[in-house]
Amino acid sequence: MSSTKAFLSRSVILVAILAYLLRPINRPSFTVIEPLNPQDPINLPSGTSRRVLVAGGGLAGLSAALELAERGFQVSVWEASPVLGGRLATRTVQLCNQTFAIEHGFHAWFANYHVFADIRKRLGIDHYFRPWGAVQFIFKDPRYKPEALESQGPYPWNLISIVLRSPNLRFIDAILSTRHVVDLLWFDHKTVWGKYDEQSFSEWARAMGIARVFYDVLYAPTLSVTVNERQNISAAEMLSMNHIYFLSHPRADRREVTRVDYETAIIQPWEMRLQALGVKIERGKRVGRLNFTETGVHVVEEEEEGEEGVAGSDFDHVVLATNLQGVKSILDASSVSPPSSLS
Ligand SMILES: Cc1cc2nc3c(=O)[nH]c(=O)nc-3n(C[C@H](O)[C@H](O)[C@H](O)COP(=O)(O)OP(=O)(O)OC[C@H]3O[C@@H](n4cnc5c(N)ncnc54)[C@H](O)[C@@H]3O)c2cc1C
Repeated sequence: MSSTKAFLSRSVILVAILAYLLRPINRPSFTVIEPLNPQDPINLPSGTSRRVLVAGGGLAGLSAALELAERGFQVSVWEASPVLGGRLATRTVQLCNQTFAIEHGFHAWFANYHVFADIRKRLGIDHYFRPWGAVQFIFKDPRYKPEALESQGPYPWNLISIVLRSPNLRFIDAILSTRHVVDLLWFDHKTVWGKYDEQSFSEWARAMGIARVFYDVLYAPTLSVTVNERQNISAAEMLSMNHIYFLSHPRADRREVTRVDYETAIIQPWEMRLQALGVKIERGKRVGRLNFTETGVHVVEEEEEGEEGVAGSDFDHVVLATNLQGVKSILDASSVSPPSSLS
């Protein structure tokens, strides 16, 4: 009786999934992201002068600096390390009389990075990017053959065809694991985070009856690129990630890489553009603490701490674009308490 029930419920789910997949798809090729407050003036009113400090020269800080400088703000960037770029920074090493560019890590740029796509155009660096097709995976487990995961064809065929082309995955396993596909295809941020943030992804996968081969071949590699501990990443985080990177957009799975190192392709042109806009960039300068005054923010560099008659610098606004630990330590040392979401 229970197996008949299970069969019936799987059949209903399968029919629902097929109905969803086969529905007429008439979407724009890119989603337009509306500004949060369309009433916000784009540029500073003429005759107004506002000084902004951007703490952190990674992608977030450089983006904020570009946006604000183009809108007429007087921008300074303080970057704690000797190089710009943060987790995208390139360092050079001398070896056997040659200079090599060493990246912090491999980066792929997904088609749904709308904001970065716009920045690329503004910096004129599109020519440094090229499509990157298959992602190659080899497995320690001798049962699995090497996989070349590649998005081919329109959504959702690109996703189905990954399964059909795979030397390891069988379509029947996908059909038998349909329960988990429902949470992916009908992804709803609030529901997923409400239901699954307390559950680890591997517990969720077991509870959903995901076929072992699916977990090992598709999900385990995706988990590994998040650089999180496998047992601790929540099901909600993984579902969100899979939704954003593979399902949220007909071209979500398409990605690009740079033709040359990130310093040449991205950071240098970005820095040149900021300098042309009058942005003052200071490397090796770590924000220590902020003192809020009647007229703005007094910012003290970490190096200056403990020195007599600390000078500091005055700004009208500060953008904290450091990593999370950086934000916490700045706010802990400052004359404000960190927002409860950070504590
Ligand atoms: C190995 C690896 C691979 C990755 N692969 C991908 C990928 O394929 N695709 C993808 O989209 N993303 C990838 N990422 C993630 C991506 O690199 C990051 O999300 C992004 O670079 C973060 O940018 P950010 O500006 O928010 O932070 P960060 O890059 O961390 O920048 C923060 C900056 O703030 C500075 N700072 C800290 N404290 C202070 C302070 N008190 N004062 C002044 N400055 C301070 C730091 O030195 C740093 O430069 C990868 C990350 C890693 C590590």
